[in-house]
Amino acid sequence: MNKRQQDLFGTLPPWEEDEARACLVARIVFASPPHGPLDYRVPEHFSGVLAVGKRVRVPLGRSNRGQQGYCVQLGYDTACAGPLKTILEILDDQPLLSPAMLGLAEWLAEYYLCPLGTALEAIVPAGVRGSMGTRELTFLSVPTRVAARITQLQLPPKQQQALEVLASSPRPLTVQELARAARCTVAPINALRGKQLVQSQRRRVASVEITDRAEAAQSPPELNADQQQSLDTILEALDSGRQETFVLHGVTGSGKTEVYIRAIEQLIGFGRQAIVLVPEISLTPQTRQRFRSRFERVAVLHSHLSQAERHWHWQRIARGEVQVVVGARSAIFAPTPQLGMIVLDEEHDASFKQDQIPRYHARDVAIWRARAERIPLVLGSATPSLESWHRTQTGEFRLLDLPSRVLQRPLPEVTTIDLRLEFRRSGGGAISRPLHQSVTQALREGGQVILLLNRRGYSTSIQCPSCGHVVRCKDCDIALTDHRVEHLAICHYCDYRCARPAVCPECGFAGIRFSGQGTQRLEQEIARRFPGVTALRMDSDTMQRPGSHEAALARFRSGEVQILFGTQMIAKGLDFPNVTLVGVINADTGLNFPDFRAAERTFQLVTQVAGRTGRGERGGQVLVQTFNPEHPAIQAAARHDYQRFAAQELPTRAQFRYPPYETMARLIVRSPSET
Ligand code: ADP
Ligand code: ZN
Repeated sequence: MNKRQQDLFGTLPPWEEDEARACLVARIVFASPPHGPLDYRVPEHFSGVLAVGKRVRVPLGRSNRGQQGYCVQLGYDTACAGPLKTILEILDDQPLLSPAMLGLAEWLAEYYLCPLGTALEAIVPAGVRGSMGTRELTFLSVPTRVAARITQLQLPPKQQQALEVLASSPRPLTVQELARAARCTVAPINALRGKQLVQSQRRRVASVEITDRAEAAQSPPELNADQQQSLDTILEALDSGRQETFVLHGVTGSGKTEVYIRAIEQLIGFGRQAIVLVPEISLTPQTRQRFRSRFERVAVLHSHLSQAERHWHWQRIARGEVQVVVGARSAIFAPTPQLGMIVLDEEHDASFKQDQIPRYHARDVAIWRARAERIPLVLGSATPSLESWHRTQTGEFRLLDLPSRVLQRPLPEVTTIDLRLEFRRSGGGAISRPLHQSVTQALREGGQVILLLNRRGYSTSIQCPSCGHVVRCKDCDIALTDHRVEHLAICHYCDYRCARPAVCPECGFAGIRFSGQGTQRLEQEIARRFPGVTALRMDSDTMQRPGSHEAALARFRSGEVQILFGTQMIAKGLDFPNVTLVGVINADTGLNFPDFRAAERTFQLVTQVAGRTGRGERGGQVLVQTFNPEHPAIQAAARHDYQRFAAQELPTRAQFRYPPYETMARLIVRSPSET
């Protein structure tokens, strides 16, 4: 509630006074303009039914069907003043938002400058709001007056049995569920209903039923001393009930996930829940499997769920039936009734920033929520964001350190290859001679190879050598990428597509040049250089269908695929012990972006992809091709030296008054006319 709204409602008299004469007023906000808040009168027959957090239909403007809105406040108005319109209908049996989540929405709206109604729509999934994929069912429960004297009722055995099962159920059951649980037909249940020994309630529920594939239980490894110390510190905060934010800085493969899991095991023992945010869950099937194998009731929220499936999970979470919610950024809004801890794994990842209104950052939302619910927040990464790192230095966050890999495995050795020298000698192509030799050797020894090239498409620029014209997106002014396979030129920013030009669109010259390396071109080069080797391209063009990512990783795990290559999605979180070589085709692709985080992103990407090797007993090696071998970000990544990178980069940020020293806002001005 912002200041202005508080002032308004602050003037209303308290509940008790003149309640008889006063009329109940509801404050309503809308997801679309005019957004509100607007006040409506609550008719008498709704007065016990309407609650904050439920949706209503109200008259608005000229629409006589009414407009859907959210009730965000209720109060009595003694004056009954003004020509207030009346609420037409209440749309929800249960509030969609708890007071805590409403508070979160209010903060979102204020901090990210969006209407409250828009913030609410970000929190409540569309499937829940639209009742999509839902049906109404009757739920049965036993009133307390009956539960107290079941044994004295002298019912027929079947009815007695059903009544006892229902009374001991932790939640209301449908007739079918009860029949199954009590091993009876519906007849005794209907008899109980006839005698009014059970009460029934209609409730809207998701019509899908998702059966979680349980994973085979894994036996947990014994924690090493660093892991144990981090865990103890988190558990201390958990026990003390004070809010604390931890940055768990652990090198790749240091066992961070194991620390999260142990802490969560503790808190679910007290009937609480945990939220674990991961960059994009469909990209990390291994994380999903790990949580499924260690916990009984896990909800995995990923981007390929249908709205009905989302609804189903949401309801289970809201009823407290889920122990751990694992998901991408929007899972931070999971309606857990008794949240015990929040974890952001790979907290530096750019995908935690929402790119639509409200443009929230899941890390900042997590900080707010952890403070409001007074629970620990754990931000884990091998390459923490400089924002979080800075806060460990000021004492706002607490640093936990896992400086080495589990089982004393060494970090892989990283060698840079200076492309300025190599290109003069090897004459074009994306793969230099030393990298070619290392790939051959790794494959010969039975190892697997990962090659990173963070550019999809075939050529990354289309330019006329005659007039110098660069073919650009007509909307964004960004150079189009040549997608030879699809015969298209595509804008990687807005996805604008057109046919790839045969002649210069500006001067008509026929020799237009396609240059720069993309993953499609790399695919051809790999096939040419390593005949008979199975290679697989992984980028957002080849991984569009749900499940394709998992299928690809399964092929790599089985050893059928020997070379996995693609964009940054192959750099994230994968744990394949047989990968003995990682090659970075061009470490500089992100370095020249006009973004103050360009160096930080490059450091993160190179460090993360380097971390994909040396995870087994066979060790591993990393080759980084670059035109800037002396660049501090690339040097620090080659040494796995986060602290050194941070120490170099932070003074630059301070000098130019960039975050984390200042807050930056991005203003977007839109108009049909550029002037
Ligand atoms: P991170 O999240 O830091 O990359 P993980 O938690 O995924 O690291 O651990 C990497 C691998 O090491 C996993 O296969 C995990 O089961 C294993 N592991 C974790 N902790 C230990 C330990 N203390 N001893 C042996 N193996 C461990
Ligand atoms: Zn564009």
